[in-house]
Amino acid sequence: MLARRKFFKLTAAAIGTLTLGTVNLFAKKMSKQAAKYQETPKGEQQCDNCFHYEAETKTCAIVEGKVAPKGWCSFYVKEQN
Ligand code: SF4
Repeated sequence: MLARRKFFKLTAAAIGTLTLGTVNLFAKKMSKQAAKYQETPKGEQQCDNCFHYEAETKTCAIVEGKVAPKGWCSFYVKEQN
């Protein structure tokens, strides 16, 4: 019985750790290098028509630092109007 209780405690702790790890993973933005960011658009794909772009601050929800409205990275997602 004690082993079973210990198993459940360890499992709960492991799930909690994994959950926190996942939250932290998504809370931190990725580097421009990791995102393959560039200051120029790729065809019609550019930051100012990307789902992740935040126009007021000229930042991106997933890439760190300022991004150019005409910039682009490999995580581009076309914004739906
Ligand atoms: S995901 Fe890439 S393309 Fe989209 S706003 Fe961020 S840096 Fe620009």
